[in-house]
Amino acid sequence: MDISTLTIASTRAAIAERQITATRVVEDFYRKIKAEDAEIHAWLTLCEERALARARRIDDLAAEEGPLPPLAGVPIGIKDVMVTKGVRTTAGSKILGTFIPPYDCTAVARLEAAGAIVLGKLNCDEFAMGSSNENSAYGPVRNPRDKSRVPGGSSGGSAAAVAAGMAVATLGSDTGGSIRQPASFCGVVGLMPTYGRVSRYGLIAFASSLDHIGPLTRTVRDAAVVLRVIAGRDPMDSTSADVPVPDYETELAKPVQGLRLGVPKEYFGDGLDPEVRAAVEAAIARVGAQGAEIVPISLPHTPYAVPAYYVIATAEASANLARYDGVRYGYRSPQARTLAEMYRRSRDEGFGAEVKRRIMLGTYALSAGYYDAYYLKAQKVRTLLARDFETAFQQVDAILTPTTPTAAFKIGEKTDDPLAMYLADIYTVTGDLVGVPGVSVPCGMTASGLPIGLQVMGRHFDEGTVLRVAQAVEQR
Ligand code: GLN
Repeated sequence: MDISTLTIASTRAAIAERQITATRVVEDFYRKIKAEDAEIHAWLTLCEERALARARRIDDLAAEEGPLPPLAGVPIGIKDVMVTKGVRTTAGSKILGTFIPPYDCTAVARLEAAGAIVLGKLNCDEFAMGSSNENSAYGPVRNPRDKSRVPGGSSGGSAAAVAAGMAVATLGSDTGGSIRQPASFCGVVGLMPTYGRVSRYGLIAFASSLDHIGPLTRTVRDAAVVLRVIAGRDPMDSTSADVPVPDYETELAKPVQGLRLGVPKEYFGDGLDPEVRAAVEAAIARVGAQGAEIVPISLPHTPYAVPAYYVIATAEASANLARYDGVRYGYRSPQARTLAEMYRRSRDEGFGAEVKRRIMLGTYALSAGYYDAYYLKAQKVRTLLARDFETAFQQVDAILTPTTPTAAFKIGEKTDDPLAMYLADIYTVTGDLVGVPGVSVPCGMTASGLPIGLQVMGRHFDEGTVLRVAQAVEQR
């Protein structure tokens, strides 16, 4: 069996029909990871004992020939910003280099309860801050499609693991694009659900009003299956919404015929690579040929999204990261002689350069003299962006755009220019600011064989339509 092409459905079927045991599946994945990950560096920590114990439970269930749970025996990986009980969780940072959490993230617990098997924890940018995975304290991840290039970020390990066939599905987190952008660069599907659709309990906070957990998978159908399992109200997260979770696979069976799909002109302007534009436009035409109506629209405040995002995200990050002080958990500088020096040195030695840059930017934006000029202004822009989407969704059922302005760039190409790096998120940050769901689905390739992603955004809590349109784009 070629494990690198397994989907959730084919893994579960092979185990249910007793063609293979879950134990064997897990062993095969670990063999592949050990043989191939030295070059990719997607994994930070493996949890073989926990995985094999879970696999044996699935095999016992299969032997009893009872009904199997929806993700029975499916090997998954978790971005290292979600806590896992007894399994080291670093957030890609030196400051949490030896942190062993005492509980499981709700999304992880729900996946395991549905039969999935966690193989380990995946590399990412430090505290999910980055667009290329080059900000990890543990070294960069390489793009499996071209190892001289970045996999995208910050969920680079999550995208690379699926693209390289080292997991059937993974979880990532998206604050400004970190699920969709790496999915696009690695040629996999990445879904950011509506804000509040999936509990953030156990997600190490970056920017709380923007953080989302979601799946990265090989197919749109797999993303739908994972979403159904992890979505829904969780009493441990007061921002998780009490909105019924539909059966997304049923939604996928509906045709796209009759849907109105908006194409915003602001997402096709300067800076869009011509090959990306051509592939995205061709994919939009294919969906049109399936009977959807393609409608030109405008989202006029789009140019202000990146600056608003980098004010709000850094402001929230500066507050969230205050907890890493060397006292309760995480790295403590061994050299400090006074309490104040201990705080200063622990943070100085524990955080990397990008995290420090964000803490300084955010602290500045929130400071007494500048709050109105920066933070408050950015929040007003956020409201205008939300109105753009409200107006658009009166005319259309979903919005189609490129996921990123270019295909994957070279490792090292943008590391000296933070502003150029921030522009890699130009098409994704708005979805986070407005809280609508968005998916990136592979829609073509550049002449040199790099994947290109198309983004579908939809109304709040309408992941069903978003997935349905993504499936119409998907070429399999
Ligand atoms: N690249 C963006 C940033 O650096 C988004 C990160 C994310 O979505 N976690 O903030």
